[in-house]
Amino acid sequence: MQDSNSLASIPLRPANMAPPAPHYPWPAPYTSAMFLSFDVDAESAWTAKDALNAERLITMSYGGYEARVGTPKLLELLDQLDLKATFFITGWAVDAHPAMAESILKAGHEIGHHGYHHLLPDPGDPFIEYEIEKGFEAIKRRLGVVPTGYRAPSGEFTEELRQSLVRHGITYTSSFRDDVRPYRHVLATGQPGTIEIPVTASYDDWMHGLSARFSPRSIFPKEHVLSMWKDELDEVRDWGAMVTTVLHPQCSGRPMRLRLLRDFLTYAKNCQDVWIATGEQIAAHFQQHEAAEAAQKA
Ligand SMILES: [Zn+2]
Repeated sequence: MQDSNSLASIPLRPANMAPPAPHYPWPAPYTSAMFLSFDVDAESAWTAKDALNAERLITMSYGGYEARVGTPKLLELLDQLDLKATFFITGWAVDAHPAMAESILKAGHEIGHHGYHHLLPDPGDPFIEYEIEKGFEAIKRRLGVVPTGYRAPSGEFTEELRQSLVRHGITYTSSFRDDVRPYRHVLATGQPGTIEIPVTASYDDWMHGLSARFSPRSIFPKEHVLSMWKDELDEVRDWGAMVTTVLHPQCSGRPMRLRLLRDFLTYAKNCQDVWIATGEQIAAHFQQHEAAEAAQKA
């Protein structure tokens, strides 16, 4: 229930104070881009909602599909298409499925930070710092990697999280829904934040292809989703902008969804004007242009 005090405390300014995204050109010969990324939640997608789900074995089996089938099938597809992607993985998934995590790294893909228990970052949440630190620790210990990219579990963000990620050396984040090009966050302190590689719900496979007993959804067929994914990409190509995929092995690693993804990625590759890249590559490209622009102004 809203009360007049809480409504009066809503600041009279945009929630995101970052200036508009700069229109940096994409690396030649490309004129648009796709951030190809996956979120590997495994069973932590389900225990994040309720720790007691750990004992609900069918609920857990949705997430268990990732290590058993989904991730190997996706790695095989990316290898066939000669594409490199970013895998945002929870620390719990790394600890529970080290062989799966190692196979992603070994195939040459980027490992990103996705929390530890996949807990949704909420204002005042006592676990925000714990999730960041424990996620880093698990990835470092098991894979010897220090991730530079972060995607918020369940796609929520707070100012505390934004500042903490900068303190922890994160270069880029990929969670906000407010642009079609990368931009630089501005912290509440006025200091520069991470580079944001924004996302959109239309490329979140969970929305169109995953149905569970306690979160039932319609599952849409390939033609339906492919048409949406192509339209979004084609319009973005006209804009010279970018799209970001948010794909989960427990969804896109399913047979029908894999067929859909194969068709979509083959289409995107054949476009030839779309730079299909990892978050690390896109962030490095942004940094390079930002530095050149700053040098020019100096
Ligand atoms: Zn996730």
